[in-house]
Amino acid sequence: MYHRGPEFAELLAECQIRLQACFGTTDPVLTLSASGTGAVEAAIANLVAPGERLLAIKTGKFGRRIGDIAQCYGAEVTWLDCPPGDAADPHLLQRALSESRFDALGFAYNETSTGVAQDLAAIAAAAVENRVLTIVDAVSAIGGIPINMEANALDAVVGGSQKALMLPPGLSFVALSPRAQLKLQQTTCPGYYFDLSRALDALRKGQTPYTPAVNLFSGLREALRIIHREGLAEVFRRHHCLGVACRAAMTAAGLALLATDERCASATVTAVRMPEDLDSSELVRRVRERDNILIAGGQDDLKGRIFRIGHLGTCGIDNLAAPVAAVADNLAEMGCDIDAASAVTAARDAFQTCQESSDAYDTGL
Ligand code: PLP
Repeated sequence: MYHRGPEFAELLAECQIRLQACFGTTDPVLTLSASGTGAVEAAIANLVAPGERLLAIKTGKFGRRIGDIAQCYGAEVTWLDCPPGDAADPHLLQRALSESRFDALGFAYNETSTGVAQDLAAIAAAAVENRVLTIVDAVSAIGGIPINMEANALDAVVGGSQKALMLPPGLSFVALSPRAQLKLQQTTCPGYYFDLSRALDALRKGQTPYTPAVNLFSGLREALRIIHREGLAEVFRRHHCLGVACRAAMTAAGLALLATDERCASATVTAVRMPEDLDSSELVRRVRERDNILIAGGQDDLKGRIFRIGHLGTCGIDNLAAPVAAVADNLAEMGCDIDAASAVTAARDAFQTCQESSDAYDTGL
């Protein structure tokens, strides 16, 4: 497909409308031919000028990456540290934001390295009150967890193709509020390829500034249609219930979750503490080799100490039951006293109860 022709413009326009629904905005969503980190870097390079002050919430690997990138671009970065498995405490955040003046606040909404989702409404309220621009890494949230960008008055929200959007890696997204678009005009981006004002101008013409990964854009349209057919509210609810089910299974198996506060547990990835004296790299290897299922280990300081189960995208309860059984079986083989059958039953029961309940799970839609 020729990327300067009407066919691509039509494809881009459809993706735009459906992406806006996933982000909860009517503002432009720029699609970059780069992995998620590219879009995080683009957002920072275009919205935070050298010498400006950014508060970065360090929930784990991806919260830290935002601050690291901002430092690369000459920003003055202050860190708000959170213990692994915890979300940012809104009171501490409010205090940090009010004690000194910041230009921007950066955080990972869904911290993939620890399975933690932030209290978005509380963070957004603190950001609005203290008039800081918000730069949100929602790479592992978009398409699986509601973010309601407009209602939460977020300024720059980043997504990625290879998580809940079910695509191969290679596309990422930056949605920009009117305030972020204004800041974009006022900030000189030191880069060329990731200068978002060029991407914004091109989007208005139904194009991207440079040759896009056209094949992935075609896939994106299909993925977004799949989401649309299921219904965004249903997709969000299914992910919420998969999270509930995975945590129920792990708890039934006698394992400890890294995120102990249910209110900040992620709907797309669950991080579980490894039993004492066992290394999660060994579990990951066994599950891959014996069951042909990919789970993840811990990253950085959590290497060997946790394992993570992803439950996002096309995932249903059967797809979750398989890794639950594999984890439990392999842990039993590694010497743990674990009953795989009861873990799977707990997952199925919790999922069904959650899907059938009319509880106040609010998608904001
Ligand atoms: N942010 C989050 C929350 C992620 O989970 C990831 C990848 O796992 C990234 C950023 C980085 O994305 P990529 O590896 O596509 O550059």
